[in-house]
Order: sequence, then structure tokens, then C-alpha cells
Amino acid sequence: MDLKSGYPFWAIKNGLMHAFPQLQEDVRCDVAVIGGGISGALITDELAAHGHDVVVVEERDVGWGSSAASTALLQYEIDTPMIDLAKRYGEDDAALAYRACADAIHQLQSLAGDIRDVDFARMHSVYYASRRHHVPDVRDEMALRKKHGFEVSWLEPEALMADYGIRAPGAILSQLAARIDPYRMAYRLLARLEKRGTGVFDRTRIERLETHARGVTLHTTQGAQIRASHVVFAAGYASQHWLDQHVADNRSSYAFITDPLDADTLGALGETMVWESARPYLYLRSTGDGRLLVGGEDDAVDIPSRRDARVQKKAQRLVQKVARAIPGLELKPAFAWAGTFAETEDGLPFFGAHAQHGPRAQFAMAYGGNGITYSMLGAGLIRALIERRKHPLAALFSFDRLDR
Ligand SMILES: Cc1cc2nc3c(=O)[nH]c(=O)nc-3n(C[C@H](O)[C@H](O)[C@H](O)COP(=O)(O)OP(=O)(O)OC[C@H]3O[C@@H](n4cnc5c(N)ncnc54)[C@H](O)[C@@H]3O)c2cc1C
Repeated sequence: MDLKSGYPFWAIKNGLMHAFPQLQEDVRCDVAVIGGGISGALITDELAAHGHDVVVVEERDVGWGSSAASTALLQYEIDTPMIDLAKRYGEDDAALAYRACADAIHQLQSLAGDIRDVDFARMHSVYYASRRHHVPDVRDEMALRKKHGFEVSWLEPEALMADYGIRAPGAILSQLAARIDPYRMAYRLLARLEKRGTGVFDRTRIERLETHARGVTLHTTQGAQIRASHVVFAAGYASQHWLDQHVADNRSSYAFITDPLDADTLGALGETMVWESARPYLYLRSTGDGRLLVGGEDDAVDIPSRRDARVQKKAQRLVQKVARAIPGLELKPAFAWAGTFAETEDGLPFFGAHAQHGPRAQFAMAYGGNGITYSMLGAGLIRALIERRKHPLAALFSFDRLDR
């Protein structure tokens, strides 16, 4: 296969899976969700399952934002090590965030079992020390996770090489991780919701909105209005356009996928995802049809044409990095692409209301390398906020931490 650039693999593999209508008329609902990516789909599912009347609007085709580009490693391991989060927010909050991500993997497993055929599989995860001098920090990280009940063990260099073919001075082996096809999951969830009566509209852009004491009014480019009691911004990195405050940086990330490999070549990598302590980190994971998905090489390029021009070079750099970390594994990209995502300074997401828009508007900014696990835990959190219930993660994931 030729190396392709620009088109994310999931969209090529799955195509447009279901035709959703464009919103042509005014509608009323309890909650309007802006964004038909994995966050919008999971939040809508949670709200609809608990009796809320929801309308979802997506300006492109469903799933065609960051969710189509995502490599979708589902990890409780946040890009910011637990030990660094503990220094910043205290050990209790660091453990709370990690535990919430672990719970989210179990929730995604249960939902994927229900939705079916979304390439979900439980995996293990190897986090290796990229350099010898990283080993003490990675060992401390493991000790803290162990203290908080995570199932982790240490891999010495010999075991890393013998079991995974990885050349590194040591690694944490975590038992809990998973993978999914995020594009398929978003489509299938939204198609099920539509079948059950939720309004799902794509090619429908929200251009402006007004918030009032009792609700919100959203205006589409086509001139239709949505009147709702609440709005949820699940618009991915574009959610930032609705805020005057700077809350995250946009990043580009690069990925490629191989053709299906035989079981001998894949070996333990078939059920173990791999990432490292260097930043930006290299990572890889298998798919259900035996391919390897490799990603990394993140940069601050925020202009799509410049980003796309880099795809092939970045893919070759990733090939070389894999060959250095796993000698003997010579990968050939079948498809390569780049995607935009946003990253917060501390690696944690923002879920909740912002002073600029008042309590009727909730933001679901599932930013960072753990975006999908964040979206899953955020679904429950957003529902609690809309229902005015307390939630253990509300304070830690709120915009208030920007003022601390
Ligand atoms: C290359 C790459 C690799 C990644 N790897 C991982 C990983 O391994 N694990 C992980 O958990 N996460 C990963 N992520 C992050 C994860 O993919 C994202 O966090 C997640 O997909 C975000 O989903 P979302 O629904 O919030 O945003 P999106 O998928 O971007 O969806 C938001 C949608 O809102 C729509 N929208 C925006 N504005 C409007 C408007 N005004 N009106 C109507 N619609 C609007 C957009 O068209 C878009 O489709 C990765 C991301 C990238 C790019």
C-alpha cells in the first residue's frame, strides 16, 4: 500500500457509517450538545440514558474531528506522572485523577460490550524509561501507583528485551489498559441514540449563542435555533474559541499504521501497548486486525497545511524511533496522518461551567493524550453538574484550578 497523508485511518477504514440529517427547523430540548465526536457521543449517551432530552449538533460529519485521528490508547496513566500531579495538587487528588481514569476504562469496556463491534480490547501497558537517568523517577512513579492500589510491576532490561523486544533500562508493566476504534464508537453510539429518539444533526454549525437565566439559545449557520435549558460544549479543541481565557495549547500529533502483521512479528505487542518517559513520547499499540499503530513526534504546529506537509517525514522519524527502541522491528507505514488536539499545562481536563458563560453552559474539554478516558469520566461529571449534584472530580477538573 502507498503511504497516504492527511486522511486518518479510522475514517478510511469505516467511511461515513450512517447518514444523519442537517438541522433545518427550530427545536427545543433539555440539553444541546455542540460536537459529534467521542466526547459529544459519550456525554449524550449518559444524559439520554438518565432521561434528559438531548439534541446533538456537529458541523462536519460525525466523528470527523480529533476523534477520527485518535490512536485511542485507553490508559489510566495520565501524560503527567502521578508523582508530578501529587507535587502539584497533593497525593489525594493525584490518586483521585488516576483512579477516575482507571474506572473510565471499565466503563468504556462495559459500553463497548453493549454497543459491540468497536474493536475494543483490554491490553497491558509498558511504560519504559527512555534513558538511564530516568530510571529513579520511573521507579518512584511505580511505587506511588502501587501504594494507591494499581496493579503494576517492574521489568528489568533483560525481561523487557526477552518478552517485548524493547531495549530500555527498565519499565513499569501495568495490567490495566485498553484500545478502541473511537470513530466507530462515536458513530455507533450516536446512531443508537438517534434510533431511540435523540436528535442528532451533522453538517450543522453553531455560529453564536445567548445564555439567559433560564436557558440558552443556539443559532446555526443555516438560521435554525435550538432553545435548551443547558448547553454542553463538546467541540474538541474548537471549544477554546468560545472562551476569552487561554486554557490550553493546540498541538499536532503524528501517527501511522502498518498493514496487518503476522502473530510472530507482533509477539507480546499484540496485547501490550508501549510508551516511554521521554517527551514528546513515542507510543504504539496493536489493532484487532493485527496492525501496529505508532504515534508521537508532537509539535506546536497549528496550521493544517504546514502540519500535513510534515506527515511523511514524521512517519519516517517514527519508523526510526521504533527501530531504535525495538531492534529488529522494521515497520512500513500503510497510512500516515496528523491530527490536532489540545493540551493543558497540567495534563488534566476541564469539565464544568466557566464564569464567562454562566451556569447554563458546561464545557467538556477532554484535552491531552488521555482524551477518551477523560470523555468517559466527564460524561458522568457533566450529568452531575447539570443535575446539580456533587461529584468528587468537580473541583479538580474545574476552571477554578487556573486561579490556584
Ligand atoms: C493523533 C492523535 C492521537 C491521540 N491519541 C489518543 C490516545 O491514544 N488516547 C486518548 O485517550 N486520546 C487520544 N487523543 C485525544 C483524543 O482523540 C481526543 O481527546 C478526543 O478525540 C476528543 O474528542 P472530542 O469529541 O472532545 O473532540 P472532537 O473529536 O474534535 O469532536 C468535536 C467536534 O465538534 C465539532 N464542532 C466544533 N465546533 C463546532 C460548532 N461550532 N458547531 C458544531 N460542531 C462543532 C467538530 O467538527 C468536531 O467533530 C489523540 C488525538 C490525536 C489527534
